[in-house]
Amino acid sequence: MPAPPTPDILALRGRVVTFRDNPFTTDPVAALHHEEDGLLIIRDGRIAQMGTYADTLRHLPADTQVTHYPDCVISAGFVDTHVHYPQLPMIAAYGEQLLEWLERYTFPTESRFRDPAYARDIARRFLAGLLRCGTTTAAVFCTVHPQSVEAFFSESERLNTLMIAGKVLMDRNAPPDLRDTAQRGYDESLALMTRWHGRGRQMYAVTPRFAPTSSEEQLELAGALLARDQTVFMQTHLAENLDEVAWVRSLFPARRSYLDVYAHAGLVRPRAIMGHAIHVDEPDLMTCHDSGCALAHCPTSNLFLGSGSFRLFDALDPRRPVRVGLGTDIGAGTSLSQLQSLNEAYKVAQGTGHRLHPVQAFWLATAGGAQALHLDHRIGTIAPGMEADLCILDPEATPLQALRAQSCDSISDLLFSLMMLGDDRSIRATYVAGRRVHERA
Ligand SMILES: [Zn+2]
Repeated sequence: MPAPPTPDILALRGRVVTFRDNPFTTDPVAALHHEEDGLLIIRDGRIAQMGTYADTLRHLPADTQVTHYPDCVISAGFVDTHVHYPQLPMIAAYGEQLLEWLERYTFPTESRFRDPAYARDIARRFLAGLLRCGTTTAAVFCTVHPQSVEAFFSESERLNTLMIAGKVLMDRNAPPDLRDTAQRGYDESLALMTRWHGRGRQMYAVTPRFAPTSSEEQLELAGALLARDQTVFMQTHLAENLDEVAWVRSLFPARRSYLDVYAHAGLVRPRAIMGHAIHVDEPDLMTCHDSGCALAHCPTSNLFLGSGSFRLFDALDPRRPVRVGLGTDIGAGTSLSQLQSLNEAYKVAQGTGHRLHPVQAFWLATAGGAQALHLDHRIGTIAPGMEADLCILDPEATPLQALRAQSCDSISDLLFSLMMLGDDRSIRATYVAGRRVHERA
């Protein structure tokens, strides 16, 4: 189904926040651009003008209606750099750590996606759930079944969301009905990549689940797929859990590290996204810096599974910064809301001796995520020419938030209250390419 028509011109008024700079390398308050009473003019799905309401109004044709969000914050839509749509039904599964959790809960759930009707139903619920949380772009794992990818991209195309997704590659150490072979995985991925990569706003990611479930041959063929097209993405998991790291060491004894398994197959490169990366060392971080690959920090998941603490400030060390985005990692994560991810990211940072400033936090969830994905020329900030993917944040969505907002004395403090207390109720509306796709009831 083609994407619905976009109104030619749209005007949104409210408090606008976006970024001039990276708040991890400069004073966070100076990195933030804030219009107390701002106006956005959107034409053909892109930001045409952004500035104060008083100055920008003159660019608006006289009869254009302005949608006013008086007490809300207009932000770029959130970017989720690591999430599994098929795991939505098994969110909040009790009691296990990573490897047992996969066996007991994840694999049986993913088996159901051989049914295209089931895949369509969950894809629809998942994308609606993302938009309800203000997330407009995500890097999404499907299952081993090509029909799971077809279902996801079809629904995303209908909504016109900018999404990255791919078929999971898994040719060993998984139940028989969830295994492909190296050659079948290659052929099916190539067919999906040819059909979907660059079609409208959809983009393909070659998706080996993680090193233990792919043979060396499958990883090599994943590298061969990527070598065909520099613009294709790669997503996988890296060093999430200590038992997993030990398993990878025993499966690939010749490799220096877990990351080196992927590097050897040609998977560590720009537009590669490694989920978690908790148990990595300095040479690994240097490799990530040099290669332009990204790490996805998934705090709700890491706390839920007891995997460990991602060292965000080490990864972002300005002497060799690594690209880092924020991931919800459903179903090990506990919420699709990036506000909830920021809440837990703040606590993980506290636990590792660092203070995550609210401006840094919102940068991670928007501009930083876009930069991690090499999409910062299209999304993640609000500026003329950027694609108009936006979320409207309501800092007074609940009685408690309304009370807390009374004592907010700065935009930073307001953002902090949003990230600590907010969730899907805080999203007043979500816009995708200049079209409203979610409005809170
Ligand atoms: Zn994951």
